[in-house]
Amino acid sequence: MNNADLLKIAKTFGDPVYVYDAQKIVSQFNRLTNAFGGVKHLKLNYAAKALSNINILKLMNSLGSGLDTVSIQEVQLGLLAGFRPEDIIFTPNGVSLEEIEEAAKLGARINIDNLSILEQFGSKHPDIPVCIRINPHVMAGGNSNISVGHIDSKFGISIHQIPHLLRIVELTKMNINGIHMHTGSDILDIDVFLYASEILFETAKNFPSLDFIDFGSGFKVPYKEGDIETNVEELGKKLSNRFNEFCKEYGKELTLAFEPGKFLVSQAGYFLTKVNVVKQTTSTVFASVDSGFNHLIRPMLYGASHEISNISNPKGRERYYSVVGYICETDTFASNRRINEISEGDILCFKNAGAYCFTMASNYNSRFRPPEVLWYKNKAHLIRERENFDDLIQNQVDVKNLFESKKEKAAVK
Ligand SMILES: *Cc1c(COP(=O)(O)O)cnc(C)c1O
Repeated sequence: MNNADLLKIAKTFGDPVYVYDAQKIVSQFNRLTNAFGGVKHLKLNYAAKALSNINILKLMNSLGSGLDTVSIQEVQLGLLAGFRPEDIIFTPNGVSLEEIEEAAKLGARINIDNLSILEQFGSKHPDIPVCIRINPHVMAGGNSNISVGHIDSKFGISIHQIPHLLRIVELTKMNINGIHMHTGSDILDIDVFLYASEILFETAKNFPSLDFIDFGSGFKVPYKEGDIETNVEELGKKLSNRFNEFCKEYGKELTLAFEPGKFLVSQAGYFLTKVNVVKQTTSTVFASVDSGFNHLIRPMLYGASHEISNISNPKGRERYYSVVGYICETDTFASNRRINEISEGDILCFKNAGAYCFTMASNYNSRFRPPEVLWYKNKAHLIRERENFDDLIQNQVDVKNLFESKKEKAAVK
């Protein structure tokens, strides 16, 4: 997809708009699959929360991906998209026993991340196999909000509690069929990841009837030029070798599983929005766009740096701009960025807008969430309508005659 394609989409479907390039998703899926070509049984479970439009889920299903889900609604979405229940894994954090039972009833595989629920679930349903989420306490991740493996993290069962865990398994006679870790987003150092994997292998030896080991995710993708990305080819080679070795030791050919979100969809996404105002102050030139953190919150929430280009004037002279939103709070997308000269009405393109962008969008400031378009085989398909005023108010209950009107009282006098 090129600038002309993107501009045409903005014209056809209006802006702001999210656009996803299916081919990029396919190539990332294949890249990861090839990187782990050395293992006999590989399972990629796409993390639905990154981008959960049903057409994206269907694309993943067609590629042979499974689905990693964190809420019962994501499980239902997966089923609606055509995933077989056994290809859906439910990996929530801190949800109720009832929600886990509901997912199990729908046939999803269950991943439990705390001892209390493990004991309750195991006592009630000793026949349903369960995967356990281990916290290896290895510090990884690019941002403290998305790094979830450290010692005081709320995620997973601490490796220091394995003896307690084993007692629960023994007492309930439940069947542990998988072990899992997810150390957090953005693996920068492969050796740190391999170190965490060793802890997982060590833990795995305690469970004789495993089918799979799930290494979570955290593959970092570049967000700007010169950014480090996870070398998945090197990781693939090293971890595959070690995994095969472990399987021999363990005496069974296990499945190696991953649950990538960002890696598969981040770079496939573009967010297009129009410049409403160019405002020159004494120190800064602001480009105010027709959007804000209601549509794309990552820069404000995580300090994420999304590349921004002016696709209306790609050959224009480069100048420095601060790109800001229209929300009535500071919502800065980029400070003093070099961008081709911007005029009011130009369309700016935000890159890496596939993962955690639309799915984190809200109606803050009573704005509509934008449409989503899927670019597939050189054709643009609308996969979500722009919201309208009815969407905004549909769940609001307008209680009649609740308040006495001061105006009317005043009028009577
Ligand atoms: C969010 C999440 C993922 C996906 O992480 P990415 O960084 O997007 O690849 C994988 N597994 C679990 C359990 C998650 O919560």
